[in-house]
Amino acid sequence: MNISKSKQLFQAAQQVIPGGVNSPARAFGGVGGQPIFIERAEGPYLYDVDGNRYIDYVLSWGPLILGHAAPRVVKAVQEAAARGTSYGAPTAIETEMAELVCDMVPSAEQARFVNSGTEATMSVLRLARAYTGRNKIIKMRGNYHGHADFLLVQAGSGVATLGLPDSPGVPQGATQDTLVAPYNDLTALKNLFTQYPNEIAAIILEPVAGNMGVVPPQDGYLQGIRDLCTNNNTLLIFDEVMTGFRVALGGAQEYYGIMPDLTALGKVIGGGLPVGAYAGRRDIMQIVAPAGPMYQAGTLSGNPLAMTAGLATLQGIREVGAFDNMVRGASKLAEGIRQAAEAVNIPIYQTQVGTMSCLYFSEQPVINWETASQSNTEQFAQFFHALLAEGVYIAPSQFEAAFFSTVHSDAVVEQTIKAVQRAFETIAT
Ligand SMILES: *Cc1c(COP(=O)(O)O)cnc(C)c1O
Repeated sequence: MNISKSKQLFQAAQQVIPGGVNSPARAFGGVGGQPIFIERAEGPYLYDVDGNRYIDYVLSWGPLILGHAAPRVVKAVQEAAARGTSYGAPTAIETEMAELVCDMVPSAEQARFVNSGTEATMSVLRLARAYTGRNKIIKMRGNYHGHADFLLVQAGSGVATLGLPDSPGVPQGATQDTLVAPYNDLTALKNLFTQYPNEIAAIILEPVAGNMGVVPPQDGYLQGIRDLCTNNNTLLIFDEVMTGFRVALGGAQEYYGIMPDLTALGKVIGGGLPVGAYAGRRDIMQIVAPAGPMYQAGTLSGNPLAMTAGLATLQGIREVGAFDNMVRGASKLAEGIRQAAEAVNIPIYQTQVGTMSCLYFSEQPVINWETASQSNTEQFAQFFHALLAEGVYIAPSQFEAAFFSTVHSDAVVEQTIKAVQRAFETIAT
């Protein structure tokens, strides 16, 4: 595979951008080698600057659930751009988008739009603290909630892949109210409530963990957390930045039938443009300024281009059959991978919830960060490069999810399975 232009571009980028990338996971740190520079993308395909084509299962790390350059999204955004890209004043499409989000996400009665998932989790935790008058929060080991100081503790893939336990520059004071519990462990949570009675404002978690691969909640885990929160007057926040509109149309809360008090959204909600949102119970959301005293603002929040892309995307996945077809395709791919691994006797452990899935190079079930981190990352790196050479692009880390879209057709899935077979054969010999 010729990547000479990517090599040149990466050299130049490193001169003027730290590490040559604007988000660390893009740099291939977890697998070695160097990133591929992209020229354009269409449907399920990425095209790099050297003219190589890849079937893409990264999809901009989740957002592009209708595939790249989805015609309905491109057209809507082009038309919106011609009417002006930002006004800093309210527009009808913001209300339309909020109505759609409240319609789709079961626990959402009101929504506030921001510009990223990071902003959504930051803001929703300020809201939880404002509402409860408490300071402490609980997060789970290996869950990622964006890069805000107080959430950058045991934060999963990006940080783990780089081998940074915590980031320098985060003052101790910023994390002193952040308590951490292992994922899928109710006893640890109960102990924290015993230790800090009436002090915990909120539990925030990924209802399906997607930043240590894909780790589903065990039976009773989410219900147990819901009960603990209710009994302790603590708010339950689902970070559905990744799972929202992805594990089901209404996110993990619909899939598992558990209602959080508040939800953070991102990724799919912007259809490839920068959008985040937080949503939830009306009585809590009414604390947000200017309805209430909790300040949160944004020059480009509710941006008309971003709202337009998000709206077109959510409308697209809502079309009859679209979502079920995607899940069926993702399951077919997972089964093909299982058979391919079995044929060459490579032990793997697979997880899939809706359109998110993961292939761990591990013999044992993965239920939390400890078990995820025992995967064979060297074997993953070999597999990653073999697969890339076969024209299939997956995230360059063992601890990331693979994403599926409405344009990953049966033919694309079959092509992928053949590539996976060849990649497994390469690394097995
Ligand atoms: C990606 C992600 C975030 C951060 O979103 P950004 O848009 O990258 O700031 C937060 N939470 C979860 C669960 C995520 O997957």
